[in-house]
Amino acid sequence: MKYHLITYGCQMNKNDSERISSFFDKNNLTESEEADADIIVFNACSIRQSSIDRMTAKIKKIKEQSKDKIIILTGCLLKKDIKKLENFCDYILKSEELPSWNLPFLKKEKIDYFEIIPKRRDTAGYISIMKGCNNFCSYCVVPYTKGREFSRPAKDIIEEVKEAVFCGKKEIWILGQNVNSYNGGISFADLLVEIDKIKGDFWVRFTSSHPKDFSFDIAKAIKNCKKITKYLNLPLQSGDDEILKKMNRPYNAEQYSKLVANIREIVPDIALSTDIIVGFPGETEHHFHNTVKMFNEIDFDMAYIAKYSPRHETKSFAEKETVSEEEKKRRERVLTEILTEKNLIKNRLYLKNIVKVLVMGINKKGYLFGKTEGYKDVIFPGSEKKINSFANIKITKCSKWGLEGKKIIQK
Ligand code: SF4
Repeated sequence: MKYHLITYGCQMNKNDSERISSFFDKNNLTESEEADADIIVFNACSIRQSSIDRMTAKIKKIKEQSKDKIIILTGCLLKKDIKKLENFCDYILKSEELPSWNLPFLKKEKIDYFEIIPKRRDTAGYISIMKGCNNFCSYCVVPYTKGREFSRPAKDIIEEVKEAVFCGKKEIWILGQNVNSYNGGISFADLLVEIDKIKGDFWVRFTSSHPKDFSFDIAKAIKNCKKITKYLNLPLQSGDDEILKKMNRPYNAEQYSKLVANIREIVPDIALSTDIIVGFPGETEHHFHNTVKMFNEIDFDMAYIAKYSPRHETKSFAEKETVSEEEKKRRERVLTEILTEKNLIKNRLYLKNIVKVLVMGINKKGYLFGKTEGYKDVIFPGSEKKINSFANIKITKCSKWGLEGKKIIQK
């Protein structure tokens, strides 16, 4: 039988799909294109309504076109979304229970989910070090879809990183909903130090970090470990204390700013990105102004800006929405403009410099593309053979969104 996997959501979901694929292959199923597949697995995500809407339309279309295809639904899903889809799916299963999925074409195994070695299908090697979250930010579904926090033993993680590096992965992503609170026998900072000792030429990135749990030991590990990239995503979510409180984020704007100042003192050249939600219920112009102010002051290298969307089962779902869609879009635009203006200034500083880039792929125009250590996009001409290797690129052009290089200088 043939199967096809469709993945929505974050890198942790991508990593779950790699385990599903590996388990299916072991059961003599063959991965194929969607049209040829007998089984379609949807690894879904309830975090954004837009993702659920797209997936619902897709599942319905597949079932209409071919009633014989077996549809399996798994992932990070709220009860309400499962209810909406149950009539269109043949099986609804929990990803963490993969070894015991009760399907006629799979053999159940008495092993732990994390014992399944992922079938690495991306240029990056994803390593999930924990599952779940205990933080209950008032807008977030994760504690409801994935349950409480659980950390994997450090030795298992080290082995998995070694395996990914052995497979040729040059970019290792350490994943968890809140990696800073990792506690699998050692601290997260010590885990980074141990990973850095693994032999090989690779970069390590990690996400997500919660400001409340970010220790200076982690900053010191970033500074001292060569393979840990000097890139940090530290979600701010809002620059207003009242909104942060409503979001159940246990820090205020001043504490966040101090934390960033301390991190920058330890690692002066760190590239800092953040996540922001605009239009949270009750966010007035004054509250938003505080976010803009902070956004300007902190001077982020990158920001992932999301318009608030209410999710069932979360605490903020009960709150009346006070910001129109139009206004959310405007606030998103304001922050994006600040970001791009600042980016252009920063990107100009790279002109004529040589930067180390991890080559990730080739775009439609035939240019190679990749990322710098600080997660900046770079495009340049070159051969496909360079994909998944490091290259030194001389930067000749820049824009608000990235850098362009003309030639590859031999290392
Ligand atoms: S820390 Fe992250 S995953 Fe956990 S509840 Fe908050 S936003 Fe969700």
